[in-house]
Amino acid sequence: MKDSVSVNQLLIGAHTSAAGGPHHALYEGQSIGATTVQLFTVNQKRWESKPLEAKTIDEWQEALTKTGLKEIMSHDSYLINLGTPNPENLIKSRRAFEEEIKRCHALSISYLNFHPGAALEAPIENCLDKIVESLLQVEDLVAKGSTKLLLEATAGQGSAVGNKFEHLAYIINKVESRIPIGVCIDTCHIFVAGYDITTAKTCDAMLKEFDKIVGLKYLSAFHINDSVKGCGSRVDRHATLGNGLIGLECFKFLMQDARTRYIPKYLETPEGVERWKVEIEMLRDFAKG
Ligand SMILES: [Zn+2]
Ligand SMILES: [Zn+2]
Repeated sequence: MKDSVSVNQLLIGAHTSAAGGPHHALYEGQSIGATTVQLFTVNQKRWESKPLEAKTIDEWQEALTKTGLKEIMSHDSYLINLGTPNPENLIKSRRAFEEEIKRCHALSISYLNFHPGAALEAPIENCLDKIVESLLQVEDLVAKGSTKLLLEATAGQGSAVGNKFEHLAYIINKVESRIPIGVCIDTCHIFVAGYDITTAKTCDAMLKEFDKIVGLKYLSAFHINDSVKGCGSRVDRHATLGNGLIGLECFKFLMQDARTRYIPKYLETPEGVERWKVEIEMLRDFAKG
């Protein structure tokens, strides 16, 4: 069945701009040859957000039909920390996360990608448990729609958790019976977090390790980025594909390997639309083998 998916149908896109309204992100995706996109449904650097207007939702639905884009992903606000030891911030984060889930439902968005959280001065275990608690609180809300929550694998900058597959597995094990949950692997993040993915052999080993620790069935999406910084540096700087320290072999592998070929992929590389157009075409070429 899956083999009947043509290269042109493979889900490849980028994080496009929702300036002027979320529907613009879909049209921008179409203009670069994308079959899916990731977007911010609201300003990602502000706490306050107004509920989506009916007009915004109508424009979105129209754009979805016109562009034919599928499996749209939302990236939550950078301010949200579901594992913070600061009680005030935790309340704000949980409220903002709930609002984001509601917007995802209103826009029939497939995936809500979020950074798990940052421990700050608290132990990592406390942070992971706070994240679990935060997720279990949205159980009823999540059940009202069809959006799947995706933990993003992080670079481990500062006190961010999610830089080890074990962290992701810990959270998933505690919520998976109650919440639709998966993982988005960001290639730049896992590389700087210490997972070597520069060759087909090391990519295969990384997938095997992910399978052993988390389980491949939870691998739901990829952020496709090359990396300015080295393996294990824990510094998150995205590079355009082929112009960083990961190199093209990794991206070829991900487009060809049966375990990863059909998983949606979203570019977050620098330089914007003109470059994404080139990179999407490059990834499709890799998929042709
Ligand atoms: Zn990412
Ligand atoms: Zn990043």
